[in-house]
Amino acid sequence: MNNDTPKIRVRFAPSPTGHLHIGGVRTALFNYLYARQQGGTYCLRIEDTDKERSTDANMQEILSALEWLGLSADEKPVIQSEHIQEHLYAAQQLLNKDKAYRCFCTKEELDTDKAKAEAEKRPYRYSGKCRNLSAKEIQNKLEVKPYTVRFRIPEGVTRFKDMVYKDIAVNNEEIDDFIILRSDGTPIYQLSVVVDDANMGITHVIRGEDHLSNTPKQILLYLALGKKVPKFGHLPLILASDGKRLSKRHGASSVNEFKELGFLPEGLLNGLAPTEKGE
Ligand code: GLU
Repeated sequence: MNNDTPKIRVRFAPSPTGHLHIGGVRTALFNYLYARQQGGTYCLRIEDTDKERSTDANMQEILSALEWLGLSADEKPVIQSEHIQEHLYAAQQLLNKDKAYRCFCTKEELDTDKAKAEAEKRPYRYSGKCRNLSAKEIQNKLEVKPYTVRFRIPEGVTRFKDMVYKDIAVNNEEIDDFIILRSDGTPIYQLSVVVDDANMGITHVIRGEDHLSNTPKQILLYLALGKKVPKFGHLPLILASDGKRLSKRHGASSVNEFKELGFLPEGLLNGLAPTEKGE
């Protein structure tokens, strides 16, 4: 690594909507180890924008579980809800550049379209009804109707080289114009995560493979906002012996439960650590 190579910065970004799941610990561990191996920085971001499901108690529990495991961050944790103004600013920039648009479709209209798609056994797609409204139409509706803000997916193909899954290409036609701001004006995960990762200078996004389908959407947001796209690595999830995602049903699944069973942090991490074969 020469002096021009930016130092790597990774992050673990749990949502405080429940206990710290062992799968999350594995994600944290891979980020931590990658940062240590590369001489980089391991950050933590608490994604607490889902106000109904996030609690302070869960956040404290996650922080102390990480501390118990020796996986505390190198910098002060970032609390996502403290950065909402930055997310809103990004949405406004996208609106100004016509890379996003206001959608006045009501929940009922969208639900009807969804039910129709389901009945016809085809995947639901937003109708695009508000994609090309004139300035006058928008002005008239603004006075009387609430709206969401949708990201305008450009034409083309989105490609990236995943650190685990290698070459991935998605035709943008397969991506819906997704919502970035709800009708109450609050930002959606896809937008918040991109703005925060960009502002935190994250160079490598290493997370569970359940986020793989979010990545093309997020890459398109980075590009639309003129931000540098980080590298991505998606880790296979931890499965139970029945092949299903490890959950309470299978026994202990959260750090606290393992702690109560008498596991030592070193033993737990050892069981989750990658082997030389990369498994
Ligand atoms: N907060 C998300 C989760 O807990 C993670 C987001 C991400 O890593 O990009 O699943």
